[in-house]
Amino acid sequence: MEVAANLQRVWSEMALAAKRAGRDPASVRLVAVSKTHPPEAVRLALAAGQVLFGENYLQEAAEKIKAVGPGPAWHFIGHLQSNKAKLAAEFFDVVETVHSLKLAKALDRHAAELGKRLTVLVQVNLGGEEQKSGCAPGEAAALAEAVAELPALGLRGLMTMPPYYQDPEAARPIFAGLRELASRLAPGLPPGSMDELSMGMSHDFPVAIEEGATLVRVGTAIFGSRSSASTP
Ligand SMILES: *Cc1c(COP(=O)(O)O)cnc(C)c1O
Repeated sequence: MEVAANLQRVWSEMALAAKRAGRDPASVRLVAVSKTHPPEAVRLALAAGQVLFGENYLQEAAEKIKAVGPGPAWHFIGHLQSNKAKLAAEFFDVVETVHSLKLAKALDRHAAELGKRLTVLVQVNLGGEEQKSGCAPGEAAALAEAVAELPALGLRGLMTMPPYYQDPEAARPIFAGLRELASRLAPGLPPGSMDELSMGMSHDFPVAIEEGATLVRVGTAIFGSRSSASTP
């Protein structure tokens, strides 16, 4: 696997996109999405200097996180049901996909039981696709305000996943929309609650960075195609 070389390429494309937008490259962090790839792939990336990883499937992730051991920080980026909140709170440092108050309350309860403060992002469905999760844009303010009240959760920002467009430029209005939504919500929330914008994947992360992403979630461009992988 060419994980180290792929990481170098993604890091430099990230820095170039940040510079194009007049942003400090250090203001954008890479979440390496290791779903379906084995612990060894994570170890290769870690050895190359990548510390932040993203996973979508709880059971798979829990096994992998145990196998890799201390070192990485883990972001949950998949669809999360409230009845799985305990596992997510236990294994992850950040849950990026809080889409309902019911889920937020479940995460808060389990984080409190574990004696930890869990960092979360509110996921917003800006593409309007039925099958994509995330709250509706019109619900984001009320959800963010309620999440900010929960003592064991630390709200840090918003996350979105646009529809797949062949042309990454087509996602630009959605990325800009997430940035605008965060700046609209920020004044009504505790300081720091809207600092992070998680948006952009392998094929469109440079556009997302130009529009203000602070976290980009990149899998295929680092670890290769998932079609040949064994786990879901
Ligand atoms: C799989 C996934 C990614 C990474 O996608 P790539 O196209 O492989 O970079 C990013 N975000 C979410 C929510 C994902 O499910």
